Amino acid sequence: MTKIAGLKDADLFREAALIGGAWVQADDGATVDVTDPATGEVLGRVPDVSGAQTRAAVEAADRAFQSWRKVPHAERAAALERWFALMNEHAEDLALILTLEQGKPLAEAKGEITYGASFVKWFAEEARRIDGSLIPAPAGDRQIVVMKEPVGVSAIVTPWNFPNAMITRKVAPALAAGCTVVIKPSEFTPFSALALGVLAERAGIPAGVINIVTGMPAAIGAELTGNPTVRKLSFTGSTRVGSLLMAQCAPTVKRLSLELGGNAPFIIFDDADLDAAVEGAIASKFRNGGQTCVCSNRILVQAGVYDAFAEKLAARVRAMKVGPGTVAGNDIGPMINAPAIDKINRHVADAVAKGATILARAEVPEGGQYAAPVVLGNASAAMELAGEETFGPVAPLFRFETEDEAVTFANATPYGLAAYFYTESHKRAWRVGQALEFGMVGLNTGMVSTAVSPFGGVKQSGLGREGARIGIEEYLESKAFHMAGL
Ligand code: NAD
Repeated sequence: MTKIAGLKDADLFREAALIGGAWVQADDGATVDVTDPATGEVLGRVPDVSGAQTRAAVEAADRAFQSWRKVPHAERAAALERWFALMNEHAEDLALILTLEQGKPLAEAKGEITYGASFVKWFAEEARRIDGSLIPAPAGDRQIVVMKEPVGVSAIVTPWNFPNAMITRKVAPALAAGCTVVIKPSEFTPFSALALGVLAERAGIPAGVINIVTGMPAAIGAELTGNPTVRKLSFTGSTRVGSLLMAQCAPTVKRLSLELGGNAPFIIFDDADLDAAVEGAIASKFRNGGQTCVCSNRILVQAGVYDAFAEKLAARVRAMKVGPGTVAGNDIGPMINAPAIDKINRHVADAVAKGATILARAEVPEGGQYAAPVVLGNASAAMELAGEETFGPVAPLFRFETEDEAVTFANATPYGLAAYFYTESHKRAWRVGQALEFGMVGLNTGMVSTAVSPFGGVKQSGLGREGARIGIEEYLESKAFHMAGL
């Protein structure tokens, strides 16, 4: 077994899948290497679980569902509370595992653990509030009771960019509702998921309630989407894979939650507080090296403040420190893999070929999988980065003249996840807030992620919402019980 140096609790690092309470290897012994993107070294190996083993995980989840659904809500809440406490207790180890497999700076990884844990706390609280309703019936001898029941076995498929929080945001409401889960974490970042599995066991969450299947996606995904026992798929990742899985779920008509890609506009109007807008743009654009679904992809700046904003942002970006996430003081870690770097380079080269100018570029260390943080001036709609998420530390500035022009360009995308705008005008705030066709809109802030607010997109950014009061509804059915002859 591989060891990660620096873990206080080495048992959190598991190189095995979790099926029905047993930590197992692949039937045929196949494994997938997981590398540290900062060094390219192999961190460890996880089993490449087969379709047949995935079926066994679904069956284990189904057996566990028969009893977990009947566990009183307060007890389910208590189990989630214990899991929450353990996540906090082991936050440093969880953050270290996350940084080593994903790359983000350790301080950001700690932030993600806190954010991830906040969903467990929130849905522990919500577990106690699942209730139904009594509907006035059309005839006097009747009652209509609406009961809330868990959907059933849920498949949870998650990306590499938030290896902890994208799991808790789904698993916590699922468990609170009485569902059981089979998690398929990204093959790039399985160790964060497995560490959560260890802590769930310690929290006394029964065997089979949480199953984790690791490995390459196609065989696992085919089983999870094709198996009729799986009643729900909750997916976070690219629009391409999300729509593929949606199609694979169609024959068995599963419930779906899809959190997909974005192309967020970040609009700075002439009347904005420019320093606040620069802070917001840094947080929104460069967090996680620009590898977030809600990160601003197009920065729209009104002509009157364009030069001043560009200068301030460029100064900040030039000073950014790029390097391993484990080294304190680094702002940007390595990108997740070589194709990610290729896409970033392609977007920058295409933009420059079409007339963009490089206003700032930070230094990057020699070797390693790093992308330089860049500010591009004179960006235009014809550039590839205007239509597609770059998923890297590239900030293209688009100049605009009027509010209408900005809103029209902001909405001119098949995506609709997050949007941001900066203005000091109350009237404009309402007008633009209503006109933007996005699931989440930030006014004078670059951050919209919190467990208490609905998270999700419109258009090709997805279906459903996570977090908030409504997040648990994704895992509940409403059964109408019509009682006559009373
Ligand atoms: P991805 O779509 O490549 O992969 C996501 C997950 O799907 C991974 O676990 C992957 O292994 C799995 N997968 C891939 N092919 C599959 C198949 N055939 N069957 C089953 N599973 C399969 O996305 P990614 O590169 O890991 O993540 C980045 C993307 O995620 C970006 O587009 C980003 O915008 C999006 N994202 C969205 C949100 C959101 O909340 N809307 C949050 C984070 C990331």
